[in-house]
Amino acid sequence: MEKEKVLVTSALPYANGPIHLGHLSGAYLPADIYVRYKRLKGDDIIYVCGSDEHGVPITITAEKEKVEPKVIIDRYHEMNKKAFDMFGMDFDIYSRTSLPVHHETAQTFFKSFYDQGILKEKKTLQFYDEKAKMFLPDRYVEGTCPRCGYEEARSDECEKCSSHYEPTELINPKSKITGETPVLRETSHWFFPLGKYQEWLENYIDEMNKKYGWKDNVLQQCRSWFNDGLKDRAVTRDLDWGVKVPLENSEGKVLYVWFEAVLGYISATKELSAKKNQPELWRNYWQDPGTKYIAFIGKDNIVFHAIMFPAMLKAWNDGNEDKYIYPQNVPANEFLNFEGKKFSKSRGWGIDVIEFLEMFPADPLRYTLAANLPENKDTDFYWKEFQARNNNELADILGNFVNRTFTFAHKHFEGKVPKRGELLPIDNEMLKANKEFPEKISALLEKFKIKDAVLEMMNLARTANKYFNDTEPWKTVKSDKERCGTTINISLQTVYTLAEVFYPVIPFAAAKMFKMLNAEKTDWFSAGEAKLPEGHRLNKAEILFRKIEDKVIEEQIAKLPATEEEPGKPKEITYEEFSEIDLRVAKIIDAGKIPKAEKLLKLQVDLGSEKRQIIAGVAKFYSPEDLIGKKVVVVANLRPAKLFGLKSEGMLLASENKDGQLKVVEVDDSVEIGAKVK
Ligand SMILES: [Zn+2]
Repeated sequence: MEKEKVLVTSALPYANGPIHLGHLSGAYLPADIYVRYKRLKGDDIIYVCGSDEHGVPITITAEKEKVEPKVIIDRYHEMNKKAFDMFGMDFDIYSRTSLPVHHETAQTFFKSFYDQGILKEKKTLQFYDEKAKMFLPDRYVEGTCPRCGYEEARSDECEKCSSHYEPTELINPKSKITGETPVLRETSHWFFPLGKYQEWLENYIDEMNKKYGWKDNVLQQCRSWFNDGLKDRAVTRDLDWGVKVPLENSEGKVLYVWFEAVLGYISATKELSAKKNQPELWRNYWQDPGTKYIAFIGKDNIVFHAIMFPAMLKAWNDGNEDKYIYPQNVPANEFLNFEGKKFSKSRGWGIDVIEFLEMFPADPLRYTLAANLPENKDTDFYWKEFQARNNNELADILGNFVNRTFTFAHKHFEGKVPKRGELLPIDNEMLKANKEFPEKISALLEKFKIKDAVLEMMNLARTANKYFNDTEPWKTVKSDKERCGTTINISLQTVYTLAEVFYPVIPFAAAKMFKMLNAEKTDWFSAGEAKLPEGHRLNKAEILFRKIEDKVIEEQIAKLPATEEEPGKPKEITYEEFSEIDLRVAKIIDAGKIPKAEKLLKLQVDLGSEKRQIIAGVAKFYSPEDLIGKKVVVVANLRPAKLFGLKSEGMLLASENKDGQLKVVEVDDSVEIGAKVK
C-alpha cells in the first residue's frame, strides 16, 4: 500500500477555560484516532495543535481577576496541555499563539495582503472610553435596551428580549471598564474582501467534495454562507492584547482573532521544525502539493476552516512564490451534550477532563466517546453508558478474551506460545477474521467513519470470544492437549491483532497487551498475520479494565445540579407564577412617533379603569395610524421603565412572523376593554 504524507490539525482550544468532554469528542479524539492509525499504517504524518491565546474574552477574564492576560493564558495553556496528556493525545506539538513565531507568521500574512492591495480600509464609529483611553469592544459596553428597557443590555444585543440593534441605538451606554459614558469616535479598520474569493471557494469545495467526499454538515453550512454572499470582514480591531498590526500609525490595533488563530497551525509547525533542528521542515508539509491536509474541527468552526482559511491561503498564493496547500478535508463533528443537556460551566453542568481522568483511566473514556461520536448529529455522554461500555464491552468482551487466553498460556503451556497443530475450519475462520477486520476498519477510518470503525474493533473481540467458547479449550486441555495448544496459539495471534486495531482508540490498554505478548507494534496491514513464533515467551498477564461499581456512577450523577434550565427552552413555571402576570385587554387610543427613536412608537392605551403610556418597539412594522383603535393585550403590572426620557407603563404582546416582522396580538370586538387575559 502506498505511503501518504499527511498533515493533521485540530482546532486550537481557547486558553480562557478548561476543556470538557464535549471538546474531546469534537476536534480531538477523532483526529487522534486517525493519526494513531495512520502512524501504524506507516504514513508520514504530523499532527499539530496549540492554544489560541488572544481576543477579548481573555482580557475580560484578566480584568475580572485584576491580573495580566498572560497569567490567564499561562494557566489555561498548562491546564489544557495536561488534560490532553492525560487523555493520551498524540500531538507532535502543542504550541501557543502568544509565541513570537506566531506573531511573525500572522504579521507576514497581513503584510502580504496589504502590499498586494487586497485589504480595504474603512472608517467606522465605535465607543471610546475617554477615562481608560481606549476603544471599547462590543462586550465592554453595557446600557439600556432600546426595545425592552432592560438595563444590562449589551452594546449590540439584548439578552432579555434577544433583539439586535446598532450600538448607536443603545440607551445610556456605560463602559464596563470605568463605568463612564463612552463617546462615539471614528476609527479605521482593515477589511479582507472575502466576496472576491467566493467563486474560487465554491469551485475548490466542489472539487474537494467530488474527490474526497466532504461531510454533509460542512457542505450545508458553506452553501448557506455562499447563498448569503460572502462579505468584507474586519481583520483588525482596537485592542492591546493580540498580534500588533504591522503598519505605521497603527498603535492600539491588533489582528482580529479569527484572522490570526487559523494561521497558528502554520506557526506551530514552524515551532516543531525549530525544535527538531530542521527549520525548513514545515514547508515540507504546508507547501508540498503531495501533502494531504486534514483539518479536524467542531461544527462551530466550519466557516473559519472551509471558507476563511482557504481564502487567506489563496490570497497568499496569488502574490507569493512559495505556495500553500489547502485543506483536503474538513471533517467537522456536531456537539456532544452531557446527560441530555448542553455543557455549562456556569451552571455546573458537565465535567472537566482533568477532574474526570483523576477518577477514571483514559481508555474507557476514549472508548465511550469514540463509540458515540457526534459525527452526524449531536449525541450525549451518559454516566450509565460510560459504565456499561466499560463493564460490558471493554471488560467483559475484550478484557475477558485476553485474560482467558493468557491464563491458559501460563497455566498449561509454561507462558510460551504453544505449537499450532492441524487447523480445523473454525481455526481458519478466526485467522481469516484477523486478516479481514484490519482492512475493514482501515477503510472506515480513511473515510473518517470513526464510530463505525470502533464498532468493528469490538466485533473482532466478539468474534474472538466466540472462537474461544466454541473451541472449548477447558475440555481439550484434558482430552487433546495439541488441539488445546492450537486454540491458544490462534487466540494469542488474535490478541496481537486486537492490540493493533484497538491501539488508536485505547492506546494505554493496547500498550499493556503488546507488553504481555512481549511483542512490538507492527504495521497495520500485517496486524492480522500470525507473527508470534512457536515457543515465543510471554510476559505476565495484567488487568486491562477494572469494572466500575454502580455506587461510583451514582455518586457522579448525584453531583449534578438537581433542577436545571436548558438554554433555548423556556423554564417551567407554576400556575401561581403565571397568574402573577396581569394581562389585560386595552384599546390603543393614540399613537405617535418619537424623534430620533426610529424603532419606537409612543402609545396611549385605555385599560378601562385607567389610561397609560406605553413605549413599544413596533415602529418598523406599524405606522401610528394603523394602531389606533386596535384592541390589544398588554402586560399591566410590568415595572415602569424610562425609554428616551419617556415613561413606559406596560408592554404590548406581539409575535414574530417568519419574515421577522412583529404582529401585535389582537382581540376581537366582543371582548371588553380591561378584561383579564388568562
Ligand atoms: Zn431588550
